[in-house]
Amino acid sequence: MTATTTAPVLILLGPPGAGKGTQARMLEEDFGLIQLSTGDMLRAAVAAGSDAGRAAKAVMEAGGLVSDDIVTAILAERMAQPDTAKGVILDGYPRTDVQAESLGDILARMGRSVTAAISLEVDDDAMVGRIAGRYTCAACGEGYHDNFKQPSHAGVCDKCGGTAMKRRADDKAETVRDRLMAYHAQTAPLIAYYEGRGLLTRIDAMDDIAAVRTALAAIVHKATA
Ligand code: AMP
Repeated sequence: MTATTTAPVLILLGPPGAGKGTQARMLEEDFGLIQLSTGDMLRAAVAAGSDAGRAAKAVMEAGGLVSDDIVTAILAERMAQPDTAKGVILDGYPRTDVQAESLGDILARMGRSVTAAISLEVDDDAMVGRIAGRYTCAACGEGYHDNFKQPSHAGVCDKCGGTAMKRRADDKAETVRDRLMAYHAQTAPLIAYYEGRGLLTRIDAMDDIAAVRTALAAIVHKATA
């Protein structure tokens, strides 16, 4: 018999730039949960030159959504790893109603279900500026921003001391606009999908990072109490 777990399955919803990745990393630190970013998994597949990566590359560079089949296969494989029993934060999945249904099926087969979906609510106009200046430490993934969060010593990661920084190919202003359009057309309807199931909480994510972290922690405590 497969062991089941009551560890939480949290979904972060919100447009590119809302802070899903930043907050998911903090939830990892605060609660020992596992961040599952389909964007990171796809970028790794592109870098590895796998079949999925080759199929996804051009779509990602254009700011569109990769096919449901490819992304769901990657997510299902990752969910099957034993560490997900600690509880997971889904960052960037589901992004379509088909993916939301698939997620429900994957979890049901594991004896699990969605614990809570959290919508990070932001103004689109601010997102292009937030995304256009961002970069991360290549070694540990810590996030920085040209205008909002520089490392204390230029070019040196505060967290791990790494000196290689990287910027995402799809963080250019033109591509960000296409990513925002894809979000509103295909992903924003999931807010109503989870609201209808009594699973949704909204957070004002225009607030600073620490305030959003506190609000999220309160939701996670409540959802896991
Ligand atoms: P992200 O890192 O979440 O901003 O994702 C970067 C890009 O990866 C997106 O713009 C999409 O092209 C692709 N992507 C990530 N997650 C998904 C998903 N769940 N469904 C379709 N495409 C995705």
